[in-house]
Amino acid sequence: MDRPRFTRSFTQQLPIPEEAIEAATRVMRSGRLHRYNVAPGEESEASALEREFAAWQGSRHCLAVASGGQAMQIVLRAAGVRPGDRVLTNAFTLAPVPGAIAGVGAEPVLVEINEDLVIDLDDLAAKARASGARVLLLSLMRGHLPDMDRLMAVAAGMGLKVIEDCAHTMGASWAGRRSGSFGLAGCFSTQTYKHMNSGEGGLLVTDDAELIARATILSGSYMLYAGHGAGPGAEAFEDVRLDTPNLSARMDNLRAALLRPQLRDIDGAVAAWNERHDRVAAYLAGHNAIRLPRRPRDEAYVGSSIQFLVPGLSESGARGFLADCSARGVELKWFGAAEPVGFTSAHRSWRYVAPQSLPRTDRILSGLFDMRLPLTFTLEDCDLISGHILDAATALDLGAAA
Ligand SMILES: *Cc1c(COP(=O)(O)O)cnc(C)c1O
Repeated sequence: MDRPRFTRSFTQQLPIPEEAIEAATRVMRSGRLHRYNVAPGEESEASALEREFAAWQGSRHCLAVASGGQAMQIVLRAAGVRPGDRVLTNAFTLAPVPGAIAGVGAEPVLVEINEDLVIDLDDLAAKARASGARVLLLSLMRGHLPDMDRLMAVAAGMGLKVIEDCAHTMGASWAGRRSGSFGLAGCFSTQTYKHMNSGEGGLLVTDDAELIARATILSGSYMLYAGHGAGPGAEAFEDVRLDTPNLSARMDNLRAALLRPQLRDIDGAVAAWNERHDRVAAYLAGHNAIRLPRRPRDEAYVGSSIQFLVPGLSESGARGFLADCSARGVELKWFGAAEPVGFTSAHRSWRYVAPQSLPRTDRILSGLFDMRLPLTFTLEDCDLISGHILDAATALDLGAAA
């Protein structure tokens, strides 16, 4: 094999932009890191971020919080989910999603996905009916969008409130409308591996004044909720301010200062991700052992990672493929493993969720591979990585024919 081993890191993100470092330094010099610690006439960085994110997203309201997981948990609680309630979600997602449902004492009801890695709308309707759930926490896992018009129609037919988990769809849209603006609320993460990086952080958007008022108090606003750049008027707080608990999950000014310049540049980052994603996808699409999820015309995605299926692969075949890629320096994640590895886990590893039979999802996950595409990779890196994956896939074909 004459292809050089790939030696760069799949977890190395770009540095924080200088402008953001300067903004963060100004906050530190001021000493006013808490979002409600403002000088007379000053708008806090957290408040300004909320205003700017709401405007960019096209939402009436935005609340900055401590993490994407906290955004989901707060919005579930604010939407009236109570202990023992059932909440629908995709079976293919990351642990903070069932974790948010369990965090409010509710029971996750897992819905099958299809080969395009999006929620199966027939199974959604069937499970909504059977479970009596009134809320769907829709995880747009790895940035794959279902037909959002059909999904919203099914949800309306079943009387479901939809909350969107947009951890992988910040900047994505369906038929020209931003992901996160279809349901009751959208939840975003600014954890290091998402589309903006503040280490940890979350953003919650909605057009619903009462929901954002509850969420704001839940996030720990004390009675200082007037200092929110994209919050509702004081009247929205009248009924909720004394009967909503404070869960202290605020975002601080330091993180907000890191995020505001990144938001200004996000369109450039999205274009750079898609250039890398589409470069790798074009190679993989040419191999007969590999199947790429279909990306509908109405979907404008953000290719910060890529997923592909190797249908019909046995467990030992999958392990061999992972090991071959790893020896070539290509770090793939596999959702078919029995035990969780790092960030990657499947529903059987969430033992706080009642065991559920998901044959279709299990079959898909057994042949599903996932790879990060950090912006520190060049297009030449993408060429080299793709070559290695194709070689490893070809080696599989030979094995199967023997
Ligand atoms: C990262 C992630 C979240 C939330 O992440 P936090 O680490 O809590 O900010 C939610 N959903 C998915 C699918 C994710 O990958």
